[in-house]
Amino acid sequence: MSELVERYQKIRDEVNNLSKENGRNVCLIAVSKTKSIESIVELYQSGQRDFGENYVNELEKKSTDSLIKSQCPEIRWHFIGHLQSNKVSRILSRVENLQSIQTIDSIELAQQLNKHLQQQSRKLQILLQIKTSNEEQKSGLSPENFLHVFNEINSNCQQLIFRGLMTIGSMDNVNNDDDSDFRVLIRCRDDLIEKSEIPIDQIELSMGMSNDYQRAIRAGSTIVRIGSSIFGSRA
Ligand SMILES: *Cc1c(COP(=O)(O)O)cnc(C)c1O
Repeated sequence: MSELVERYQKIRDEVNNLSKENGRNVCLIAVSKTKSIESIVELYQSGQRDFGENYVNELEKKSTDSLIKSQCPEIRWHFIGHLQSNKVSRILSRVENLQSIQTIDSIELAQQLNKHLQQQSRKLQILLQIKTSNEEQKSGLSPENFLHVFNEINSNCQQLIFRGLMTIGSMDNVNNDDDSDFRVLIRCRDDLIEKSEIPIDQIELSMGMSNDYQRAIRAGSTIVRIGSSIFGSRA
């Protein structure tokens, strides 16, 4: 067995065990940005189906690659990077097997996606990205403001299927073994339940990466996005 598959199986089993403790399924997304087609195929052959990418061009290339298309027919791609509005048309018209966009961070972006999806007569799963820390460089909706965007999607963006909330934990939290970013996301989820009456089991919480996924699952994550711990560090 290759080292890649060994690392993958170890993490997959750990995620499954932790999720049993939580009494809820946790979806593992293998974040393959900068990693090769061959390693994606290798993980697919070990059973992995959900993969995450950050850049539209790279995702387009990988999702339409002939090896991926022949070897990985049931692959599900998740977009987890910042989506610029000038890439909306491209991601929707060129990427294949796009399962979700996890990084909706404005009403304008939601409306634009909705308009393009309407023209294609299809729907797409989305998550709202919440900025749960004060780190300047991060994008995302504020915890005070996201309900406004949720309401707009709910009433005016019928092609968008709301699946949940996503956040990137701050390095500060990682270094201090601190749950506060995750708690902010959970509080947003609870606000949403109160205002929308969506049942709790229909709201995904996408939180947890290589450095904090165990802690995220213990805090209530339902989707973890893991890259370097599976594929090795990125150059
Ligand atoms: C790169 C990335 C990940 C994976 O990060 P690792 O630390 O390599 O596990 C997860 N989520 C997002 C949004 C990312 O950009």
